[in-house]
Amino acid sequence: MQITVLAGGIGGARFTRGLLHHLRATHVDAEVTVIGNTGDDIRLFGLQICPDLDTVMYTLGGGISEDRGWGREGETFTVKDELAAYGVKPDWFGLGDRDIATHLVRSQMLAAGYPLSAVTAALCDRWRPGVSLVPMSDDRLETHVVVDGDEPGTRKAIHFQEWWIRHRAGIPAYDFVLVGVDAAQPAPGVLEAIRDADVVLLPPSNPVVSIGTILQVPGVRDAVRTTAAPVVGVSPIVGGAPVRGMADACLAAIGVETSAAAVARHYGARVDATGGPSTGGLLDGWLVHDETDAAAVGELTPLGIATRAVPLLMTDLDATAAIAGEALALAETVRR
Ligand code: GDP
Ligand code: CA
Repeated sequence: MQITVLAGGIGGARFTRGLLHHLRATHVDAEVTVIGNTGDDIRLFGLQICPDLDTVMYTLGGGISEDRGWGREGETFTVKDELAAYGVKPDWFGLGDRDIATHLVRSQMLAAGYPLSAVTAALCDRWRPGVSLVPMSDDRLETHVVVDGDEPGTRKAIHFQEWWIRHRAGIPAYDFVLVGVDAAQPAPGVLEAIRDADVVLLPPSNPVVSIGTILQVPGVRDAVRTTAAPVVGVSPIVGGAPVRGMADACLAAIGVETSAAAVARHYGARVDATGGPSTGGLLDGWLVHDETDAAAVGELTPLGIATRAVPLLMTDLDATAAIAGEALALAETVRR
């Protein structure tokens, strides 16, 4: 069995860790491919930093800081402090000393001409994440955020990380632009992993700047729409709010309500209500949190999205594995 997951950082990584736990516990022989978001990537101080790929790699490889959810366990920030002592900017990005070694290896290999997918595979030789971790593209892509400009009535674009970390998504965003997407191609294996999958899973990653970004890479959305595999998603929105982070600010920027049902409607159904092909939707199935969002079942099922209400809080590994198990079970019921 081939399972393909489209993942951002923390939500995608933790879900995938639960998925691997579930597969082991149920003795299912499956290969898991994680297609990682690289729209969050940023180049700082000569280092190419891929936060979401690293979060997946460290989480699945046992090196993640469980408290923070990103970066390394036992991290120190000496280099960051030294940079601050020089007064160099930006000073808001969490650049850990251990983490810097990863960025150095990556940057050196990229400079030597290796594509990001090969670099990621090389880094994973150390971490053994138990999945094939593939960046969505080998091309340099960066999500930028359109915000108010310095002069009244003007607008400017800033890097996603500046909006997310420095401003904590607290200044109005008017749009997200994936810089470089027009000339970008999916990394080798990305479209095949979706096309040839037995199940495609959308973990509870940010629908706008994680999964939405991966879907913008040319060919990816079509591959998800047309794969023979069932496509099942897990809501990152519980009771009208993100479980963690500021996905509500991202959804507001693209005019989508922050609710489990609205995110599903935003992804859309792969079939219309009569079972015929829809006009471009992605989902066969959708999981919502039972205690808060059970009403979404009645709302979404008639739209052609098979919806189940189950516990969706990834509080520990067993709870997370159960979510993954529910996603796979739902996939079986919608398989054509
Ligand atoms: P990021 O790149 O680090 O922001 O991570 P992702 O995009 O992969 O995932 C972020 C999303 O994970 C957020 O919108 C959260 O609401 C969601 N999330 C985090 N923890 C949980 C959880 O326990 N349950 C659910 N359903 N969603 C979660
Ligand atoms: Ca991210």
